Amino acid sequence: MGFKAVVIEKKDDANVVGIKEFAVDDLMEGDTVVRISHSSLNYKDGLAVTGSSPVVRRFPMVPGIDFVGTVESTSADRLAVGDAVLLNGWGTGERHLGGWAEKSRVPGKWLTPLPPGFSPEQAMAIGTAGYTAALCVLALQDGGVTPESGEVVVSGAAGGVGSVAVSLLASLGYTVVASTGRLEEEGYLKKIGASRIISRDELAVAPRPLEKELWAGAIDSVGSTTLANILAKTKYGGTVACCGLAAGMDLPTTVAPFILRGVTLRGIDSVMASPAVRSRAWELLDRTLDRKVLAEMTSVVSLEGAVKAAEDILKGKVRGRVVVKID
Ligand code: NDP
Repeated sequence: MGFKAVVIEKKDDANVVGIKEFAVDDLMEGDTVVRISHSSLNYKDGLAVTGSSPVVRRFPMVPGIDFVGTVESTSADRLAVGDAVLLNGWGTGERHLGGWAEKSRVPGKWLTPLPPGFSPEQAMAIGTAGYTAALCVLALQDGGVTPESGEVVVSGAAGGVGSVAVSLLASLGYTVVASTGRLEEEGYLKKIGASRIISRDELAVAPRPLEKELWAGAIDSVGSTTLANILAKTKYGGTVACCGLAAGMDLPTTVAPFILRGVTLRGIDSVMASPAVRSRAWELLDRTLDRKVLAEMTSVVSLEGAVKAAEDILKGKVRGRVVVKID
């Protein structure tokens, strides 16, 4: 029996994307078939669907680096038919067929039980972006940044990683400065926990090696000049969690923040993070994330809607998080 999936094919060097009937026999290797109920839209899915960066490593590909669903069949030891499971990353939507489909076959070791504190829709409202925001918050905590240390800045604040980061930090008692290119979102950003807003233009100027010390920590999903300016403005001994490249992959900085102010730059990867690291992040989310605020930052689309929204996310037009409802 076939099932519905968003399929990306390569034709004449361009990505052709459509919703198609996909055969179970054409699913990839794995010991577990999952009936998917929800997926989500992440920046990487935008890159995959539009083909604007070569994240897709085989064709045809089904995008969707996240999903939640129910185990339909399995030979994995720790899983049983009917289990509610969650997947974030592991190369789905890049090298392995992803979650914008009614079914997926994956190695059971990539699946974790759906955290009991979240519904399937809430888990996908968090998704990879939100779980990455939690990894960033843990990096700041591990670096000794406390609410008493001073303000923490979040760049790309109205986006997916940024929105969840703002909310988590605020719930933990931090004073959050939200950097955004969408000043019209001030009301939204304050509602989800920002104390004050700055224009992203302030962080887009040519960076100097060191600036006035402003922030005890930072969560940056933007990269490039923005990250360089953040490093230059980070207080002595501060920690900056770096997870994204919405403005670019370059980093035009100097060693000055590191050798003169003891600043730590912590790299964050969600795709291959160990199960122990993942469960620490999901525990933090369960303990800390305000479900009403999560609903405030979430919109829900169909598979058709997800394909349309893929271009918007690359243009920085998507606010918060987008759940893809499959069934
Ligand atoms: P979103 O598009 O939802 O958020 C990115 C935000 O960055 C935008 O909303 C916008 O916020 C800001 N932005 C966009 N373009 C620019 C620009 N040219 N200059 C400055 N700011 C810009 O994406 P996500 O939050 O899902 O992902 C953010 C980044 O994090 C991506 O690069 C993604 O690949 C990366 N990522 C990395 C992960 C990892 O494991 N390391 C996991 C998940 C995401 P605003 O309008 O508020 O300025």
